[in-house]
Amino acid sequence: MAKKKPAGSVRQRILKLLLANVGQVVTREQIQQAARDPKTKKVPENWHQRLSELRTDYGYNIQSNRDTQELKVSEYRLVSATPGPVAGKRVKITAPTWATVLERAGEACQWEEDGRRCGLKAGETDPVGGGTVKLTPDHKTPHSVNPNINADDPDEWQALCGRHQVMKKNFWDHRTGKLNVYAIVQAAAEADKRAVYEFLKSYFGE
Ligand SMILES: [Zn+2]
Repeated sequence: MAKKKPAGSVRQRILKLLLANVGQVVTREQIQQAARDPKTKKVPENWHQRLSELRTDYGYNIQSNRDTQELKVSEYRLVSATPGPVAGKRVKITAPTWATVLERAGEACQWEEDGRRCGLKAGETDPVGGGTVKLTPDHKTPHSVNPNINADDPDEWQALCGRHQVMKKNFWDHRTGKLNVYAIVQAAAEADKRAVYEFLKSYFGE
């Protein structure tokens, strides 16, 4: 499979910084500076999403403190300038199936959080991540878990906005096929975070 070249200037600017510092610690501030729009000097709100995509979509091994204790929170490190393999070949949903999925979804993002649907519709402005919402098909079971994907079964698919596509991808480490517990807790609703917090306190006897 041909490697995709990172498109989009924010992603390219972040990658350029990381490539200039392979094996070195790069801070959140450095990444934000690199991601800034060269004209407006504004830090794009979605810089972290673009950074995540360099991992999930382009195969760059970018470590954070959830990968190694050598890194503190808000520190990152690109391990190698050569990207690794990108998660297995993607099965593409068929056009009629996608039309059915979209119709069932009411043309809105189906991500559920706190018992509530995201519900963002294509063309709307994402109030959290910024940018225009685009809905894309998501296979409910990650490829690393179930490689037998049926492109014609609307029950296997859902419609997600870009922010929730990235969030879901971050829940799975494509290199190990394991759940990324830290990312799940980070994205969880406050009540769930509280429950985890109480569990951890009792687990560590604090
Ligand atoms: Zn969404």
